[in-house]
Amino acid sequence: MFKAVFLQKNELGEFKASIEQISESQLPEAGDVVVQISHSTLNYKDGLAICNKSPVVRQWPMVAGIDGAGTVLESAHPNFKTGDEVILNGFGVGETHWGCLAEKAKLKGDWLIKRPAGLTAEQTMAIGTAGYTAMLCVLGLERHGVKPEHGEILVTGATGGVGSVAIALLSKLGYTVVATSGKPEQAEFLKNLGAAEVLDRKTLSEPGKPLQRERWAGVVDCVGSYTLANACAQTRYGGTVTACGLAQGMDLPSSVAPFILRGVTLKGIDSVMAPLAVREEAWQRLARDLDLAKLASLSRTVPLEEAIEVAAQIMAGSNTGRVVVRM
Ligand code: NDP
Repeated sequence: MFKAVFLQKNELGEFKASIEQISESQLPEAGDVVVQISHSTLNYKDGLAICNKSPVVRQWPMVAGIDGAGTVLESAHPNFKTGDEVILNGFGVGETHWGCLAEKAKLKGDWLIKRPAGLTAEQTMAIGTAGYTAMLCVLGLERHGVKPEHGEILVTGATGGVGSVAIALLSKLGYTVVATSGKPEQAEFLKNLGAAEVLDRKTLSEPGKPLQRERWAGVVDCVGSYTLANACAQTRYGGTVTACGLAQGMDLPSSVAPFILRGVTLKGIDSVMAPLAVREEAWQRLARDLDLAKLASLSRTVPLEEAIEVAAQIMAGSNTGRVVVRM
């Protein structure tokens, strides 16, 4: 038997999230590597799944947890053997395939990567999908030629998991970072991570003009909606906006003006189905470019028993930074 965050719907469609003891024989057949999970984490998407806020879970019952780190117990996959230290991000785990907020998970070897040298299992989950997505945004800016000398980078949803890791990464790489946040009391925290300036998120979250004063050389946007529209409208000629999130909304009430008059690039970021080569590059860069003292300052660790309560805090928008879940 092993413990897991178990999500169920009964015949009336009533939802329940609880910590349950599950028998190993119930593990999904699809999967060729059994992993003893030591750490998982709570991302925004885990919050949505555990609080049943949007249709993240596609199959019932489901074990939650889109990220996991641990040790291979059994493997029928050629790339992995018993004792290997591995990590998993996304690929529909915790959505269509039983996830990693559990002491054990049966996963496909094609989804796993070896834990990068220099990072502990706990640190990889402090990074999690949120931090790996932040790195994908940084890679997106770099690939579109955004350099520190080009000007300020805007990071929205700054106190969240993606935003806080993005600030730490960008500042270490020499960029000047301006953060927007709805939590004025966290301004010092954001400055300690490396933000040069912190703006009230209201300055961007209301409807604005299609073209505004040019300010940003690049953007990491975690919130979508009017914030993303205004960020595009304020991006400098030739700049790049990376869009990864929807914390404000899924809509994009924008116009083509920034794209056809200022040559702005809107780069979409997807972590879930990103190919292995991209993941490996992102994780190597995280191991190299993320200040581990800053990672420690933006993350905390809770036992599995607290996962459901913390998921509700994430949904209420009251969480700051990253949360690791220890099995
Ligand atoms: P968090 O919940 O940790 O952070 C989200 C942050 O957004 C909050 O801390 C808050 O920051 C801000 N926010 C919350 N509500 C609103 C609102 N109504 N209007 C404006 N800002 C708001 O989430 P993550 O950092 O883990 O994820 C951020 C987004 O990125 C989510 O939408 C998530 O779904 C998405 N995501 C996408 C991925 C992909 O593959 N594309 C992968 C990972 C995440 P503050 O108070 O500082 O303003």
